Amino acid sequence: MKRIGLIQILQETNCFNPVLTVRADFENFGVGTGSEVLAQYGTVGEIGGFVEGLKQWPEAVEPVGVLRLQAWSGGPAAPSTQAWFGELLAAQLANAPPLDGLLVALHGAMMGADEPDLDGWLLEKIRSLVGPDLPVVASLDLHAYVTERMVRGASALVAYHTFPHMDQRETGMRAANVLRRILAGARPVSSLVRLPMITGGELQSTFVPPLQPIFQDLVAAEGRGAVLSAGILMTQAYLDVPQLGWTVLIVTDQQPDLGSQLAGELAARCWPIREQLVVKFLEAPACLDRALAVAGHPVVIADGADATNSGAGGDSVHLLEEMIRRRIPGGALTIMVDAPAVAHATQAGPGGAFAFAVGGKRDHVFSQPLPVTGVVQSLHPQAGYVLNGHGGTNLRIDMGRAAVVRIADVTLLLVERPGPGSTPLMYRCVGLEPKDFKVVIVKSPAGFRAEFGPFAADIILSDCPGCASSRFASLPYRRINRPLWPLDPIDDWRAVGWINPR
Ligand SMILES: [Zn+2]
Repeated sequence: MKRIGLIQILQETNCFNPVLTVRADFENFGVGTGSEVLAQYGTVGEIGGFVEGLKQWPEAVEPVGVLRLQAWSGGPAAPSTQAWFGELLAAQLANAPPLDGLLVALHGAMMGADEPDLDGWLLEKIRSLVGPDLPVVASLDLHAYVTERMVRGASALVAYHTFPHMDQRETGMRAANVLRRILAGARPVSSLVRLPMITGGELQSTFVPPLQPIFQDLVAAEGRGAVLSAGILMTQAYLDVPQLGWTVLIVTDQQPDLGSQLAGELAARCWPIREQLVVKFLEAPACLDRALAVAGHPVVIADGADATNSGAGGDSVHLLEEMIRRRIPGGALTIMVDAPAVAHATQAGPGGAFAFAVGGKRDHVFSQPLPVTGVVQSLHPQAGYVLNGHGGTNLRIDMGRAAVVRIADVTLLLVERPGPGSTPLMYRCVGLEPKDFKVVIVKSPAGFRAEFGPFAADIILSDCPGCASSRFASLPYRRINRPLWPLDPIDDWRAVGWINPR
């Protein structure tokens, strides 16, 4: 019976977030080694998909848990954390029984403080540990920045097909299927085209035009004939790396010409729609003006620049300051990651006076602490829930202790640690119902639409300073290659001459 090893090492990095991601951030999401991987995480995200996909092989196959590490989106991984990944990989692969193949779940946009291509480093490390011949298929988020090192390290790469990300499990199953084809004799060749463009997450939905028809054809292309895997990876713009941009990736069974042709065709369809992905933002005062003019509720205001889903700190003060300044009949609901503020509220106790400078501590570049006064409404020993939908499948979220503070017409949920900023569960887990408020803030550029969309009276995209802003000229890029649209005008993407490696 064949044995297939399962690994997940997943985090999405925003390199402009000054708070490094450390070992404790992964431990908060649960570290699994050996048999724990299947026992505890066998139905979670891509690992759940790997297991399900392996069950569909014609012959019986034994999934072997090797290693599972996940942390929520945030700043670059600390050097000691990167070293820990390497030690765990070496130890757990040495402990594993002989394997016939490996399935690896990565994000594809993880950076280390000292390593701009941490996913490439991980695949290179895995390859050095398992040798040149073992088939290794890795899954990637649709916001991955695909490097040549990643392509070399893995036998094949398989990317999500949806944003909001609703197909983590299906991607795991697709990766298992590609591995099955490799073990049956397929010899994967990757064809890449890089587009010199970055776009904000706000309008990147694959469920509506202009991207929907392109993705329908992409999905249809995968599995047809020699095409093993097809992906359009829109990258995460918060990586300061050379040749940052969208990647079209086609993996074929020894058909590089077919792969290049298909990748080129898809890239040529993505390039002209870029102008349609430019976000029309409103600054904070205009957001509130518009929200208060809407008849119904709740009006959802997206603070994409401070999106915890995009690796921002989650402690921006800009919308909060504007909301405190106003009268908001029906009230506003917002969230902030601020452990010292939770401690202050805990000391004050329910009903106690709250006077503290909140926010602007994690992201101290784009925000500064904002002194506020209010009343502590409630305290919660643990703000947690299980995420299903955009961003996770059966994924346990723990934002630590929480406090709810009332400031003017604003109900502010303070939590110790970041989690998804896109689900109503971030509020409901402490008894706050978003439907009960006039205005609700989400910390997500687009993924929130999956769950908030059905009941939002209106959706407004805010333009505030922050390290996940889609106003790219506001970000301190130093290493990206230019020209890069929309920072620079580009008429013909082919003339820019970026990679087109085989
Ligand atoms: Zn993503």
